[in-house]
Amino acid sequence: MVCRGIWNVHFRGKWYRSYYPHGRISPPDDESTFRMIKQLCDHPDHLEKWELVPFLSPIHSNLDYVYIIDQDAGVFLVSLWKELNGSLRPTAIRIDLTSLRESSRLFIKDSLEQHRSTSSDNIHQTNSDIRKPMTFRALDINFGIPTPLNELQERFLTDFVFVWRYYIDDPLTWTYSSPVFKVLSIAFLRLAAWDLELSSDCEVELPINFASIPSWNYPETNIYWFHGFLIILQEDIESEAMINRALEKAKPYIHDLHGHRDARLVLISPYHVTFVELSNDAVLVSESIALLTNHSAVHCSPGFRALNRIFTSDCWKKSLSDRERWRLNVPSEILYKILHELEPRDTVAFSQASFTATQYYYTSIPQIKDTVVQSFNSSIPCCGKQRGSGDNGVRCLVCYSWRHVACIGAENWSSDAQYVCMDCQGNMNFSAPHPGGINRVSCRKTREGCHISVGGSEKLLHLRLSKPSHLRRELRFLGNLVPIAPSLIEYTIRFNGSFSGLAYGLENKP
Ligand SMILES: [Zn+2]
Ligand SMILES: [Zn+2]
Repeated sequence: MVCRGIWNVHFRGKWYRSYYPHGRISPPDDESTFRMIKQLCDHPDHLEKWELVPFLSPIHSNLDYVYIIDQDAGVFLVSLWKELNGSLRPTAIRIDLTSLRESSRLFIKDSLEQHRSTSSDNIHQTNSDIRKPMTFRALDINFGIPTPLNELQERFLTDFVFVWRYYIDDPLTWTYSSPVFKVLSIAFLRLAAWDLELSSDCEVELPINFASIPSWNYPETNIYWFHGFLIILQEDIESEAMINRALEKAKPYIHDLHGHRDARLVLISPYHVTFVELSNDAVLVSESIALLTNHSAVHCSPGFRALNRIFTSDCWKKSLSDRERWRLNVPSEILYKILHELEPRDTVAFSQASFTATQYYYTSIPQIKDTVVQSFNSSIPCCGKQRGSGDNGVRCLVCYSWRHVACIGAENWSSDAQYVCMDCQGNMNFSAPHPGGINRVSCRKTREGCHISVGGSEKLLHLRLSKPSHLRRELRFLGNLVPIAPSLIEYTIRFNGSFSGLAYGLENKP
């Protein structure tokens, strides 16, 4: 049987990797694997033929093993799939490099077997210690009814998690200390703020496979300003002690900018998001909202829903109108025209030029001309329509989806009462994902398209996982036998010019 995998080396703070086409590799207990380890230990700087990469490559469902020689930490790790309760989960086995060098290949075999017979499992660390209730004042944001833009964002974020799920599913890459957390966090934020370019250039690296790397720019620090909010990345944001730690970190940034304490903070940990409002006399803290769960590649998570709303609406923005210095009085039709005629990157820049421009930017669907979102199945799942049953609705306390009171038969709903939707009363689970959990839940599900109309004709906006059919050599022969859909790509999403992994095509509605 063919064994597939990839080699990673960590040496003097840098990551290198090597793999053969199709990922062929020797099994861990093979003599050549052992020779390779020995060779790399004896000549740790002989890495000329290796690819310099920003971080290690995670295990993928097409791979059997990922070998990691961490020279800096003095360990050899074998990342593999382990069966637990009927499902496969990524697991890493650590072997001390010094003892490995002094032994034979059988040492690796023994280590693997020893691990297989133990019941230990590296489930993501969830902080299950009993949390004291917070003494901060509660921040309750009224997110309001989702917009057409929010519906598309929910699809994009869900698709994005699906495309890059191997990085989140592997505990070796999805940790606070890994740059992967930073690179994906900025992507979540950019999607939530529609700070992206929709390009018609479909020459992109697809499919996203075991060798793909999320390669857009990201802030190197764990604290930065983004669209007027102070973003703080932290390992945990669920306890009062951790919120206090974030407040300490925020202090210099806030004083520097305004000279007084007044800011909106977005705290992001690998699994949660929390909003903090600072003013001179109070600290208001929201609940910690689930950002990533086992279902995040299938249903939009409550954390993403909240992020979309805070960036694209006024529900929690400080009123910037008093700071508006843009005295141009441009009629709205002209503003919309400008926003739709600009190049993608200029559109984003223009939207940040003034408070008025930002407002207009988020009331349309920037960069997709003449587009109307037809169904709101993700953000308004009661009837899938934004209007029609009135604007009076409730937000589910757990999943943050929005429903018309008329649709759920609760016209006399009191605004103080808390609503939990039927899905969440059932078995929807928003606890932190298990290793491999996102892939397990999403890999066999067909990805739903989003109903939109473009220039008056009804279409389905579909995620593309591979290149258009005419560019796929493997389909050339098959194409003579059976009809093959062209699967063209109309839009690719980019962050400052770099491909995000998201490509979409328009299909006629069946
Ligand atoms: Zn409804
Ligand atoms: Zn719900």
